[in-house]
Amino acid sequence: MIQLTTAAKLENAITKARTVKPRVRVNCFGSYTVTNKTTGATYSVECLKQDGKRFAHCSCKAGQRGQACYHVAAAVAAHIQLAAERASH
Ligand SMILES: [Zn+2]
Repeated sequence: MIQLTTAAKLENAITKARTVKPRVRVNCFGSYTVTNKTTGATYSVECLKQDGKRFAHCSCKAGQRGQACYHVAAAVAAHIQLAAERASH
């Protein structure tokens, strides 16, 4: 589980996500499937809120070790967009 605290923590992952440009599929609010279009590898990313803190979990090796990976960065970007859309309705 990766705690999402500051954007700086995700900075490297965000940079990598911009380079790799993985495809993010929304399963439901908070659950995403991230696909690396080059390798075809898919990972599941969950975003959740607990005690006012935001967490993310990714099924890849780095994510399982609690490291911020680009899958999380990509999914969090989609999650934030989705949350903003929901809030505007
Ligand atoms: Zn990952």
